[in-house]
Amino acid sequence: MISGHKDKALFTPGPLNTSASTKRAMLRDLGSRDAAFIEVVRDVRSRLVGLGDGHEEYTSILMQGSGTFGVEAVLSSTLPQDGKWLILINGAYGERMLKIANIHRIPTAVLRTAEDEVPSPTSMKEALESDPDITHVAVVHCETTTGIINPIEEYGKIAKAFGKIYFVDAMSSFGAYPVDLAACNIDYLISSSNKCIEGVPGFSFVLAKVETLQQTEGYARTLSLDLYDQWKGLEGDGQFRFTPPIHAILAFRQALLELEKEGGVTARGKRYQRNYEITLSAMEAMGFKPYLPPDHRGYIITSFHYPSHPNFDFRRFYASLSERGFLIYPGKLSHADCFRIGHVGRLKTSDVKGLMFAIKVVLKEMDIQLVE
Ligand SMILES: *Cc1c(COP(=O)(O)O)cnc(C)c1O
Repeated sequence: MISGHKDKALFTPGPLNTSASTKRAMLRDLGSRDAAFIEVVRDVRSRLVGLGDGHEEYTSILMQGSGTFGVEAVLSSTLPQDGKWLILINGAYGERMLKIANIHRIPTAVLRTAEDEVPSPTSMKEALESDPDITHVAVVHCETTTGIINPIEEYGKIAKAFGKIYFVDAMSSFGAYPVDLAACNIDYLISSSNKCIEGVPGFSFVLAKVETLQQTEGYARTLSLDLYDQWKGLEGDGQFRFTPPIHAILAFRQALLELEKEGGVTARGKRYQRNYEITLSAMEAMGFKPYLPPDHRGYIITSFHYPSHPNFDFRRFYASLSERGFLIYPGKLSHADCFRIGHVGRLKTSDVKGLMFAIKVVLKEMDIQLVE
């Protein structure tokens, strides 16, 4: 960090605030073919499998690029030529999966629900019954668009009953919500370096069931996003096929050690949940209304409606909070005006209380009173 300069607190879904020691872990120059670096990669890969309770049935593959690159790798390189994805959609990240499949001219079936509802397991079953061409199913765990949590274990049971390959985008939840890969019947789960593990941006990672992955040789539709080939490289000589994000991986290993030190996924989830609870009760006390019904909310990120007050101007609200050192997140909803407040990253209770106080001050500045 530049001395005397404090970074803003990021109440976003990622990239997030990271610890000083995670940032410091990057202050090295390692060769990508150096044994020391290859050992770091091996260590990171095995810790990741452990985080998903994966045991020896699962493997992990690191993929250069942001989360979307990994999603594209799974969608385009694990499906055979005659395969078809069923995509469950209730937000922007589900829509993005569909866009990726369309660009590759991959056949899809879509089960789309409103952004404040979870795709129903019954409809999923009906979709699979009515279209036997479907071979693979994809869904987002925490739809970061709203913060809604989709029931991935229920979908997994159905996928298994129908003998379908099952892919979960747990980008924004992995590391903060416990996931048992085998219990959820997951074949591929994806997340990235800069979300709940609290590393810096640079790569995504896929936890894959070895038995499923082994059958995908030659399925790739691109060279760089070939998940099978990437895995073969990492398993073989331990190297990446193309330049690895060395510094992001060094930071990530440190972030994994700190996750462990915090008490693992459960403890991290609890810290984020506390951030969420403080946020929700303070926001409601000020008169803000959360977008999702209580039973669909999670503790990753919360969407709030714009208050229906004539003085409310989101751009001014955002800029005034930013000036005070707090970055919130604009909305991404198709049908409602919302903004989002994230609960993840290296944020303490005092940061959350600081943001809540700043919101109070900014509302006053804008001459907005929502409650008596
Ligand atoms: C962050 C995120 C992604 C990936 O976004 P990138 O900007 O490519 O890292 C994908 N899905 C979900 C649910 C996410 O939250």
